[in-house]
Amino acid sequence: MRHSKVSDSPSPEQEVSAPTVIVRPGESERLLAGHPWLYKGSAMRLTRPAADGELVQVKDHRQRFLGMGFYNSRSKIIVRLLSNDRIVADAQFFRDRIHAALAHRKKHMPGASSFRLVNAESDFLSGLIVDKYEDTAVIQISSLGMEQRKAMIVEAVHAAIKPERILERSDASARRFEGLDLTSGILKEAHQTDLEKLVLSPVLNGLRFEVLWSSGHKTGLYLDQQSNYLFAGELAKGAQVLDCFSFLGGFALHAARAGATHVHGIDQSADAVAAATRNAQLNGLQDRCSFESANVFDWLSAKTQSRPHEKVLPRFDLIILDPPSFTRSRDSVADALRGYKEIHLRALKLLKSNGTLLTYCCSHHVDRNTFEEVIMSAAYDAQRILRRVAMFSQSLDHPVIPAIPETEYLKGFAFEIAR
Ligand code: SAH
Repeated sequence: MRHSKVSDSPSPEQEVSAPTVIVRPGESERLLAGHPWLYKGSAMRLTRPAADGELVQVKDHRQRFLGMGFYNSRSKIIVRLLSNDRIVADAQFFRDRIHAALAHRKKHMPGASSFRLVNAESDFLSGLIVDKYEDTAVIQISSLGMEQRKAMIVEAVHAAIKPERILERSDASARRFEGLDLTSGILKEAHQTDLEKLVLSPVLNGLRFEVLWSSGHKTGLYLDQQSNYLFAGELAKGAQVLDCFSFLGGFALHAARAGATHVHGIDQSADAVAAATRNAQLNGLQDRCSFESANVFDWLSAKTQSRPHEKVLPRFDLIILDPPSFTRSRDSVADALRGYKEIHLRALKLLKSNGTLLTYCCSHHVDRNTFEEVIMSAAYDAQRILRRVAMFSQSLDHPVIPAIPETEYLKGFAFEIAR
């Protein structure tokens, strides 16, 4: 989004074509700084009625043009800005935006064949996610404006990457806030697809993964750790590795391929354990991997129980903690922090004296500093001094736009035991 054209006068045709939302005095700063959400409470009035989903102009109370976006009176976010310039949301618009998104991935992840092609606000397409799993594209729509333009989006995705099939997985409950029902299915296909049996088969950094369409998370699996997996591999040579919250084995398989002596993965989902076991076989890594279905909290607790004068025997050179978000709202942050502290404390007790902890937090409501403080507090209790050797964010196909803080959600650290 650019701001250079803020004072351009509109063409007469555009001026009559789009209704205008006037922003309350003092509420336009965020939009000027590049954030795309106009909240209902920040909107003062409409110059004429707008239909839900319609492209509207946004101006401040002095009639200064701020941008254009999709209107939805049913959502708390009444306008999702697409641009600070004048635009027409037609087929060409979507082709251009998706083409630009693809160019970013090709530049920063040139070797990747499965990646997130469109990451909503990160690509100035609020309400739209598109993931590429080799020859399958999966679209997730969470705003009415995008829903109404699905056909154009499908054509633009097809033009950009020519997949065998384009599927939809619009089953995130956030759709309800926009007045939309949950839906999933086939949007376009070259050959007939049996969704019951469909297996997504992404290749990540040269490793093959399989996940059943019907049992995947998000649009299938988590693509946001793709670059971080490689770092895990570098730390894993000759190491005894514990991968907590292992899901399909993303970290585990990268560690095993890189030469870990052994990797043990833990996930409470029996389906995930079965899938990770199969993925290890697919890559010929089954001899160096094992997966167990268990609750990580219980497992770590059992392994770190000791009687008063016993010491816990540290067993691992590398422990990976990549849990799901422990909190969906600000209200439960304190509970989430207790959870983070507990797994770190117990993991530190199981790490050998020259071991490394690789740890991630995907909770929106826990920022990087807070996350590090929790780890420090666990280290204090475990009587360990840590040396921070790396910091991580999400892979570059989930671009971070600092003007839109919500685009940065994954925080990670590598800590060695210093003493
Ligand atoms: N590390 C994975 C992603 C983890 S997603 C990757 O790189 O792809 C979170 C996983 O944690 C899910 O598979 C979920 O089944 C599992 N999970 C959630 N809570 C758990 C718990 N308390 N104990 C064990 N596994 C848990």
